[in-house]
Amino acid sequence: MILTRLVFECFEDTTLTAVERAISSLITELKYNGQIIGNEFPCLLKDGQFVTQALCPTEDALAHYNNNSAVSRALTALNEAGVLKPKIDILGQELHSDMSDPEHNPSWQILYTSYVQTCSPLRCGEHFAPIPLYRQPKLANGCYKQLINWQQDWQACDQLQMNGRSAEFAAVAEIGEHDSSLAMRGRALANTLEKNSGIATYYYLYRVGGENKSSEQQRRCPSCNGDWALSEPIHQVFDFKCDDCRLVSNLSWDYN
Ligand SMILES: [Zn+2]
Ligand SMILES: [Zn+2]
Repeated sequence: MILTRLVFECFEDTTLTAVERAISSLITELKYNGQIIGNEFPCLLKDGQFVTQALCPTEDALAHYNNNSAVSRALTALNEAGVLKPKIDILGQELHSDMSDPEHNPSWQILYTSYVQTCSPLRCGEHFAPIPLYRQPKLANGCYKQLINWQQDWQACDQLQMNGRSAEFAAVAEIGEHDSSLAMRGRALANTLEKNSGIATYYYLYRVGGENKSSEQQRRCPSCNGDWALSEPIHQVFDFKCDDCRLVSNLSWDYN
C-alpha cells in the first residue's frame, strides 16, 4: 500500500461544517470504490488547509480515471462547498501492508480477508496479492460498497474468534459455513464479480476445529459433497477447492 496525503484548500468563504461534510463524503466514496483503504481517516486543519492521510493500493489510485460516478459527484459537492479538489502527495510505500497485484488478467480470483489485513478483499488466484477494486470493470448498484461492508463484517467475526470472546462460536460459523448469512452475501458478491469481469471468482471458507487430522483431510465440499481436496496446497492457505461451487478452504488450523 502507498501512504498518501490529501490536501484540501478553500477558494472562497465557506463554513467549517460545510467543508468537513464535503471532505468526509468524498473520503467515504473513495473508500467504497477501493481507492483508499481503512476505516480511520484523521483530518487536520493546518494553516488554512485541511489535511488527511490514507493508504492507497497503488500510486495512481486517486487518478481521475479510477473515479466512479459517486466519487465524481462527491468532488462536485466539494467544489460547491468552496473547496478545490485535493492536492495529492505520494509519501511512499507503507511497510506493514500487502503490495497490490501487478496489473494483469488473472485466471481466477478469491474473496479473502482476515482481521489483520489492510487491503482489498479481492485477491489474485495466481499471486495471492490484493486486487484494487477500481481495476475491476465498473459496477452499478453499489456492489463495491457491499463488498467493503462484507469485508468489515468478516473482519469483525475474525477478531471475535481470535480473541476467544463469548460470541466466538457464532463468529466461527459466520466465516466458516457455506450457507451462513455472511457467506451467502459474500458468495452472491463473488458471483456478481465473476459475471462482471469474466474471471472465475471463488469464496473462502475459514476452517478450524474438527475431530482429527485424517477426518479433516477427507472433508468433502460442504455445498455439493464433492471431492475438493487438492494434492498440493495453493499459497500455503488453500487445501480444498471446489470448481463447481467456487469455494476454497484450508485444512483445519488445529491440524495444519
Ligand atoms: Zn496476480
Ligand atoms: Zn462443491
